Amino acid sequence: YLCRVLYNRKKMKLVFASNNKHKLDEVRKILPSDICVVGLAELGFHAEIDETGETLEENSALKAKTIWTWIAQQQLTHEVDGVFADDTGLEIRALGGAPGVRTARWAGEDCNDAANRQKALQELQGITNREARFRTVITLVRGEKQEAKGERIEQVEGIVNGQISEAEEGNGGFGYDPVFIPEGYDKTFAELPAEVKNSISHRARAMEAMRELLSNNNK
Ligand code: IMP
Repeated sequence: YLCRVLYNRKKMKLVFASNNKHKLDEVRKILPSDICVVGLAELGFHAEIDETGETLEENSALKAKTIWTWIAQQQLTHEVDGVFADDTGLEIRALGGAPGVRTARWAGEDCNDAANRQKALQELQGITNREARFRTVITLVRGEKQEAKGERIEQVEGIVNGQISEAEEGNGGFGYDPVFIPEGYDKTFAELPAEVKNSISHRARAMEAMRELLSNNNK
C-alpha cells in the first residue's frame, strides 16, 4: 500500500499518526479520494507514543510532532505532504467534562472499551442530565516549502453533542459508540449506519475543518 501511495505523485499524501484500524477506515471514508492516508504500520512505525499531555490539544500535538520528527529522521519528509494526529475525549456535563483527556483509560490503565462503557453507565446511574459530547482535536504538521527547515503546525477541532444512553445499544462502531446518542437521533452511534456516523461525528467535523485548511492553503 505504502509503495502504491508514495509513487502516486499526483495525490496529496498525509500520514495519520494512529494505529487504530477503525479510525483509519473512518478517516479514509471521510477524506476525499484525492488525499492518500498512510497509517503508521504501513509507514513502518510500530512504537507506542505515550500520551502524557494534560489536554486533548497537547496529546494530539505530541503524536503529530513525534511522527513528523521520525519521518524527518528517516529522510522521508519530501515523500509526504504532512502528518496529522487526532485526540478524542468524551465530555459529560454532569461530571464536569470528565472523562475528557482520560477517556481511553477511564476504567483503568489497560482497560478495554466494554469496561469504559460500563463505567459511563455506572457514573450516570440515577442522574437525569445525560448530556455529553465528543470532541476531537486534530493537529496537522507540514513542512515549510519556502524554507529548508521548519514546520507549520495547525490545530482544528470537531464536536458532536448528544446524550449518554440508559443502556448499551447496537454493535457497530467502536469505543463508546453503543452508549452515545447524537443530537437529533434516537439511536446510538453503534446502531446508526456508519455513513450516518461518518457524516456527523466529532472526527468527521474535525476532518472537514482540516480539509478546509488544506484547500485554503492550496489556493
Ligand atoms: P482517541 O483519542 O481517538 O484514541 O480516543 C480516546 C478514547 O475515546 C478511546 O477510548 C476511544 O475508544 C474513544 N473514542 C474515540 N473516538 C470515538 C468514537 O468515534 N466513538 C466512540 N468512542 C470513541
